[in-house]
Amino acid sequence: MKLIRFGEPGREKPGVLLPDGKRLDVSAAVHDYDEAFFGSGGLDHLKEWLSANAAQCPVVSGNTRLGPCIARPSKLICIGLNYAKHAKESNMEPPKEPIIFFKATSSIIGPFDTVVIPKNSRKSDWEVELAVVIGKKASYVSEADAMDYIAGYCLHNDYSEREWQLERGGQWVKGKSCDTFAPLGPFMATKDEIPDPHKLNLWLKRNDVMRQNSSTSDLIFGVPMLVSYLSQFMSLLPGDVISTGTPEGVGHGCKPPQYMADGDLIELGVEGLGTSKQHVVSYS
Ligand code: ZN
Repeated sequence: MKLIRFGEPGREKPGVLLPDGKRLDVSAAVHDYDEAFFGSGGLDHLKEWLSANAAQCPVVSGNTRLGPCIARPSKLICIGLNYAKHAKESNMEPPKEPIIFFKATSSIIGPFDTVVIPKNSRKSDWEVELAVVIGKKASYVSEADAMDYIAGYCLHNDYSEREWQLERGGQWVKGKSCDTFAPLGPFMATKDEIPDPHKLNLWLKRNDVMRQNSSTSDLIFGVPMLVSYLSQFMSLLPGDVISTGTPEGVGHGCKPPQYMADGDLIELGVEGLGTSKQHVVSYS
């Protein structure tokens, strides 16, 4: 299944995207794709409900805005420097254990929403990523069991302000948490749709020029390891998102560095998880 949320910001309703591209409104069966939904077997219930009721679901028009594909999670956890070549372009050593940081969940937006270069920013940058959505509470989970705790996957652009991330103190979070810096979607694909999350091409274009073009086969720490690792330090709750890191090709790694500008168009995709597109404007 492919989960979508549609409608005005803050008032999105849940839907599903069918293989033929049709979007169905499933708000008659589901309140939202949130912690309560994932934590109560919502995916199984929805699948069952759809098999009996899909024909009666209202169709959502193709020009309706898509929101983030899941409701605001308790945590949006990111992994830093998880591709060897990206660590190199960042002039950093590949990490011996995962580097973890958070993005404020208030940075989450829909996949085609406008991204705002924050006030006083000079170094806003892009990062295409594979994101994992947690399906049930995970605490002290082994790597062998980790896949059981995953609901699905989605596309994420981990927008980053490099000056605020790297030059303004020893913590990355304020360079990662600006409003609009986390487009999620277009949809969350359930785990069964992605047989191997470590064999997915991912790419990003800025103004029609390919900037990132890699594969999740280059991940240093794979998905089961990350779920298990994080669960040793905190409980992962249903609906939480883990963004697995970005490959080489960010603006900060260019020589000389290139950063986003007002009027840019950023397009990105992960194989099996669709594509997204963000117009870039300066804060005003
Ligand atoms: Zn990132």
